Order: sequence, then structure tokens, then C-alpha cells
Amino acid sequence: MTKPSSSVSNPSIVAQRITLTGKVQGVGFRPFVYRLAKQLGIRGWVQNLRGRVLVHAEAPADQLEGFARSLIEQAPTIAQPEICHQEAHGLESIPEFVIRDSDQDAEADIHIPPDFFTCPDCLREMDDPQDRRHGYPFINCTQCGPRYTLIRTLPYDRPNTSMADFPLCPDCLAEYEDPMNRRFHAEPVACRVCGPALSYVAAYQAIEGNESAMEAAVEALRIGRILAIKGVGGYHLVCDARNEAAVQKLRDRKQRPDKPLAVLVPAMGDDELDAVRGIATISPAEAECLRAPSRSIVLVTRRDDADLAAGIAPGLGQLGVFLPYSPLHHRLLQLFDGPLVATSANISGEPVLTDNQAVDRRLAQVTDGTLHHNREIVRPADDSVFRLIAGKARPLRLGRGFAPIEQSLPFSLKTPLLAVGGQMKNTVALAWENRVVISPHIGDLDSPRSLEVFKNTINDLQELYQVKYDSIVTDAHHGYAAHRWAQQTGRPVVPVFHHHAHAASLGLEYPGDEPWLVFTWDGVGYGADGHLWGGEALYGKAGNWQRVASFRPFSIPGGDRAGREPWRSAAALCWEAGLPYSAPAEDELVHAAWEKRINCPTTTAVGRLFDAAADLTGLVGKASFEGQGPMLLEAQANTPCVANTLPLVKNAEGLFEADWSPLIPMLRDEGASLNDRASQFHATMAATLVQQALMIRDIHGAFRIGLSGGVFQNKRLSEQVFELCAREGLEVYMPEVIPCNDGGLCVGQIIEAAALHNDINNNPK
Ligand SMILES: [Zn+2]
Ligand SMILES: [Zn+2]
Repeated sequence: MTKPSSSVSNPSIVAQRITLTGKVQGVGFRPFVYRLAKQLGIRGWVQNLRGRVLVHAEAPADQLEGFARSLIEQAPTIAQPEICHQEAHGLESIPEFVIRDSDQDAEADIHIPPDFFTCPDCLREMDDPQDRRHGYPFINCTQCGPRYTLIRTLPYDRPNTSMADFPLCPDCLAEYEDPMNRRFHAEPVACRVCGPALSYVAAYQAIEGNESAMEAAVEALRIGRILAIKGVGGYHLVCDARNEAAVQKLRDRKQRPDKPLAVLVPAMGDDELDAVRGIATISPAEAECLRAPSRSIVLVTRRDDADLAAGIAPGLGQLGVFLPYSPLHHRLLQLFDGPLVATSANISGEPVLTDNQAVDRRLAQVTDGTLHHNREIVRPADDSVFRLIAGKARPLRLGRGFAPIEQSLPFSLKTPLLAVGGQMKNTVALAWENRVVISPHIGDLDSPRSLEVFKNTINDLQELYQVKYDSIVTDAHHGYAAHRWAQQTGRPVVPVFHHHAHAASLGLEYPGDEPWLVFTWDGVGYGADGHLWGGEALYGKAGNWQRVASFRPFSIPGGDRAGREPWRSAAALCWEAGLPYSAPAEDELVHAAWEKRINCPTTTAVGRLFDAAADLTGLVGKASFEGQGPMLLEAQANTPCVANTLPLVKNAEGLFEADWSPLIPMLRDEGASLNDRASQFHATMAATLVQQALMIRDIHGAFRIGLSGGVFQNKRLSEQVFELCAREGLEVYMPEVIPCNDGGLCVGQIIEAAALHNDINNNPK
């Protein structure tokens, strides 16, 4: 600390030190401070302090106040600064305002910026034939471009990113060094002279040069070829979305017969959404979500007259669409002039592929050609996916454009925790003090590569944020790969029950002391009583959940296989209810095994009820991906109907158990239309939830209702719950920042573990 100077030359000049936190790195914040100071005649300096920004400002007192206000009010669009400290300081009598180098030794309070789509200024340059970056597919500035996926280490300076491989040309260097320029210290700055370049490889021949490579790729797409295209956080598999044969070929080669494919749509018209409107009906909220700089995939309702291959999302009314998310995609779509299928290039459920050689090796049988570029992707970030539910955009998957997701905890931790999430849709979270950082979507932890990325992500988060975890929070299920990994680290392991984590996760976005009634409806998870839960209502708060309602348990023949084979759930319900059900011929022994309860775990999972309904209505008995049955069923639920509730019985343990058996004859009634049956099913489930809530309110008094678990990704169901609750005067909450599915588990694990083990610092510093 400098002591206040005694030899003040001009007594009206004072000095202040202003420390800013929030999103202030990698967003052009220092040059903004510099320009603002110049404009207001302020002297002093600005410096990066590994995550924070420190400003030393000297001017008359009233001018300093205006300066501090403008630091927040006029900050760059993608920055979200907050003043965390402001105090008087001794004068240093600096003659001008300067930008100082980053202080590498400062105490870490690090924020990593996500990867953002091209800003309007860069887009204008890209489309301007006179501009030296005209058509350049890697254009960026301080307000846009890749970040998280190219940072090797902090501080965020060019030599610490994968752009270190590209020495700046004199023109780019001049921009990079000019504090008045938009590209001042834009770390990934590049041009066609010095920056990354494309190459198109097909049939062992490479076409180099950005324009030639893009033209060759577009030519191949026009004639129905399947390409792998390298983006920001990984590769996509891409083909013409209007070409039925191409889409079918992609499905055959990827052995992915039905799972919906996302569609990348050209940005056209005044608000960029004209082409989207040609294929889908979109609400203003969906439009806003599509246009956000994260450029996420948004599920929207497909138009009947959409010029799209039927095979893109077979049997589904909604379709995942997104706008170009990098200058490369923007340019490609301009050239192609039509929608493209763009699905993550991965092997089923694994993390998205990022490495040029790995793509050549592992996707050789799938692709006809590959559009590579030579900027290394340091870490993967899959596309983010959103769905509008009950008026709010809810994430179904978080990745590119958000990663890493930084949030404040409603408490302060004594020791740093790592939470390793679940088995499917895995994400991990690192938490310390009052901060939690959530990884992007990693994938299903069933393969060696998934586990590799999982481990890298954990190391990465610790290195980037300079935090070492103390103990590890895992799902209580011993079979989960993440649980086994945690056991062999030698660190203390804190197991948390799956649905307790789902319930606790609401505490991130909705803190407060009022009790919760959280409906945790999902596929299956290991429950506190050793059975597979998934239809529970949990009352209480983090660290103290009481199971108060559930569904009539049923035993599923074949256990784990039920996730892919809805008929097993249907058989379980029928047999349990004493009704006939004929198993497929190849599984004729199943009934005998079921009678002896061999490999027939007992569950209360609502996800399995949706599966059963999909089979009993004749939609799908054997699914080609997990969740197909419920998705097909939701797509059919489009008629109005009167809601009935299922009978609720208070069982021996005092739980309100909903009996699903009246659903069976309704679902099987071929006299009624499929639409009516699907609608009736959704309405009944929603009404039953609310009925359970009302009965519990009679016992426990007021609470907040939470919806958590993969089942609530179902828009029809969740919106009906919101509607019925509004009628009853019940408050309902559902996550908006993290996914309600297993992708949000890691956050709940942190909150639950902290509460369970009193790992909360009551006197945060
Ligand atoms: Zn830009
Ligand atoms: Zn250059």
C-alpha cells in the first residue's frame, strides 16, 4: 500500500482505487476503461488482477464519481462489471492514463469468458468487400469470438491461448497495440495473412485456402454429401437439411435411426430470423433466445409446410434450430443459402470430437469429406440447448456460449468441493467460498473417452481457477463411473442421493429459508431406501429432505434395459395390476423371471410411466435412444382435455402414493384417438402432482413447489403443472440457469453436501 502523498500539487485533485469484478476479462474491459478515462480527462492506470480489474484514477472528486458510474453504465455489452471495492488513495501524480500489464501474482478471483458469436461490427466488416477481413471466417474482436475453448492457461493473454501458434502480422499487431482500436488486446485477433485457415479434405485430397475450401465444402453439401466441419468447441456432422436421402445416409452411417438432429439455419432478414420463420413458428421469447450471442440450439415448433427432410426429427412436433455461431458458419451458410443439419460429431453419448486426427480416424466411415481448420480446440464445448417452458428459456444442455458457467452460491464454503454429477449427461462443478463453476456438458460416462474428458475437465477447472478441491461429492450410486473415480482418488468422498441433489439444486437460483416441496421426477436414480426412485415429492430443505409422496412401486423386468425398451415398463405395470401383457417373442421368458423378481428392480420412476404410456398407446416398444418414448408421447399430446387425478393412497410409511393402474385401460383404449390418450395422460400426471401438493399442504402448511428431474423437460407436462398451480395459488419454481435434468445434478450435490456436513462458513469474509 502506498501512503497518502503529503506533497499534493493541486489540492482539488484526489485519487481513488476502484476494483471491479464480474465479467471483466476477455471482453475488452481495460481498453474501455482507457478510452473512458481519456474522454473524461482522468489520469491514472488500469490493470488486470487475474479476474479482477484494478483502476487507479486521479481527478477532481465530482469527476471521479461520474467516472465510476460510467464504468458500469457504459461498459461493453458482453461485460458485466461490478464495483467490489472503492476507496480513496494517495496521489501518484501520473501525467496521463495508461494500461498496465497483467499482474500475474495477484490473488486469484478468476472469471473465464465464454465463446460468443460475431458482434455486429465484425459482421459488417466481414460482409464489406473493401474490408481487409472481408469473408474471413475467423474474424473477431474484443466483443466477440472464441475464449473458453482456446485458453490454455491464465492470465488471458494471447501467448496463453491456442492463438499463440499464429504470430500477428504488422496490420493486426498495430490494431492489437492501439488502445483506441476495437481490437486492442483482442487475444484471438487474426486476419487472412496471419490467422487460422481452412482446408477441405476429401478422398485423400486437400484443398487449401479459405475461399476454395469453403466452396468445395459447399459444393459437396449441395450434392448430398456428409461432412465433418470443425467449429469453435468441436466438430459437427453436417448435411443438407432439405435432402431426405442425405439425412437418411447420415442416420444410417451414424447408426442413429431416430434421435432428432439439430438444424443450422442461415441468419437472414432484419432480425436474422427470416429463414427460421420459414421452417418454424417462433414466439418472441424463442426469438430472443435464438439471437443471444451464445447462439444456442432452441427447440421450436416446426411448420407443417417447412421445406425440411422428414427424417430430421421423426414423430416430433418440435425441432432444434440455431443460427450460425461463428464467422465460419455464418460464411458457409451464406454460400450454401439453405438450412443444414448440424449434429455433434461424436460416438454415441461421448463428448464432441475436437481433434483433427481423431476426427479423420474415428469418423472415416461416417463422412465424405472434412472441413478442418488449424486453430487448436483446447477443450470441448458442445452446443447449448434451450426450450421455452412456462414462458422462460430453460437450458436442457449447457455448453458453448455459457461454459464455464460461473454462479454465486447463497452461502460461503469452508473448504473447496468438487461435485462429479451423475452417469448420464454428466457435468461437474467446482465450488469454493461463495462461488461455483459448472463445466459444460461432458456426456454419458460409459466410454473411456468420456472418462478421459471428465478427468481433464476436473483438472482444467482447478488449473484455470487456481483452486484445489478438498473433498468430492458424488451420487450415492456405487455403480456410477464418477463415483468409482472419486473413490480411488484417496480424497474424502461425500455421497448424496440422486433425488436429494435434484431437489437441492433449486437452492442455487431460488435461495431463502421457506421450505420446499420438490417433485423429483426422472428416469431412475438410487433412492435413500435402496430402491430406484424417480417419482418422489421431497419436503424440507437442503440437508433435510423428507419423502412425502410417491407413486405405487412396480418391478421392471430387465432393469437397466428398460431405458431403451419402453415395453418393459408397460409389462411391469400390466403384470403388477394383474392384467395381461404379451412380451415380444424373443423375450418370452421374461414373465417367468418377473414372477420370481429376478433382475426386476422396484421403482417409482415417472420417466418409466411415460415409457410405459408410449408403449401402451402403440407408439414405441423398443426405442433407439433413451427418452424417445416420452418425446413421441409429448408430440401427440395436443388436444384439450379434462384433467383427472390418480387415486392417492397413504401407505404404511405415510407416503401419498399415486396409483397409476387406472391409466392402463385409458392408454390401451383404441376407441379413443392417440392424441386424446396422450393428452389425457399428460393432464392426469399434472393434476396428480398438484393433488399431492394440496394434500401435503394440509399437513405441512405453506411451501414453494419445485420441479426438478428430466421428466420436466416435457413442455406440455410442466406448463400444465404451472397452470394448475396458479389456479390453486401455489408458487412453482423450475431452474432457468442450470438444466433440470441430470446436467444440473452437480450443483445440487454441492448444495446438499454443504448443508449435510455443515460445511458452510457462517461468517463469510
Ligand atoms: Zn467483433
Ligand atoms: Zn493479421
